[in-house]
Amino acid sequence: MTLLMDDYVSFTSSVAQNFPPRKETSPAVAGSVVAAAGGFVYSGTSMGESKLQPGAMTMLCVGAHPDDCEFQCSGAAAKWAARGDRIVYLSMTDGRSGHHLLDPDAVAERRRKEAGRAAALIGAESRNLGVPDGALEANLQNRLALIGLIRDVKPDVIVTNRPNDYHPDHRYASILVQDSAYMLMVPHVAPETPPLEYNPIVLYWVDHFTFPREIRADVAIGIDEVFETKLEMLAAHESQMFEWLPWIERYPDPPPAVDRPRERREWLRAFYGSRYRPSTAERFRKQLVGRYGAEAGGRVAQAEVFEVCEYGTQPSSEELERIFEGL
Ligand SMILES: [Zn+2]
Repeated sequence: MTLLMDDYVSFTSSVAQNFPPRKETSPAVAGSVVAAAGGFVYSGTSMGESKLQPGAMTMLCVGAHPDDCEFQCSGAAAKWAARGDRIVYLSMTDGRSGHHLLDPDAVAERRRKEAGRAAALIGAESRNLGVPDGALEANLQNRLALIGLIRDVKPDVIVTNRPNDYHPDHRYASILVQDSAYMLMVPHVAPETPPLEYNPIVLYWVDHFTFPREIRADVAIGIDEVFETKLEMLAAHESQMFEWLPWIERYPDPPPAVDRPRERREWLRAFYGSRYRPSTAERFRKQLVGRYGAEAGGRVAQAEVFEVCEYGTQPSSEELERIFEGL
């Protein structure tokens, strides 16, 4: 069977300044996920002490499109990278439909480069599963391709969107992560790649959808210290931030020309803010105050929020804290 994973393109970016080389990851330990006769039981759910060492973890951020992770979790990713963790950004699709003027092949190629540049800013890897943008399905072929990629990356944590979302590609990216979670440890599924000996923890990033319920803020972090980096990563997706998104969203204020970088940055700041109203920090102030205290938590202007997915390893509160230690 020919899998899409044969087409992976990996941009392993040079580690940017301020983001130290990653420490060696501890060898994977067998998870406590156990298969029981006649059924499957998640039991204990600890990944083991040696698996979740701050600064030595691997975080796989999965988006449907090349800029999804930048919008939703690049603040956390920048902080993880600064801590020494390995960050891998994966786009399930090639992004070819993300333009109103350019040829789709040219858009896909341009976006591949943009994603590589954005990832390089924090020393992250950028990968792409190459499914045509707007045509992602939660089918077997895509599931097997994702299983192969996850087994190759060996993440401790996978971050993605929830399955309730306006965009079908987003929905199916999330479903594909869910569908892969159990299969990662099953040797006869996608036998071309060795099974994992543990199940990664899956986190959802924040959204504003209310059906069937609002996101549960298991962790809320402030990202003010790295917000300029986040904006820079977003700005690397030039075809999206300054061309496609303002057009498709009928944003009333056109972006300044490319030769006015300072004005463009301020425009992008306002554009980003327009997409999160109320801001994530305002929505989850209580959780930020709980994490940082009244004064520091009350001051946070930019935040990111995560919910633990009930598939994959269920972290204890100590394990969850280790994932976000120092963030
Ligand atoms: Zn998207």
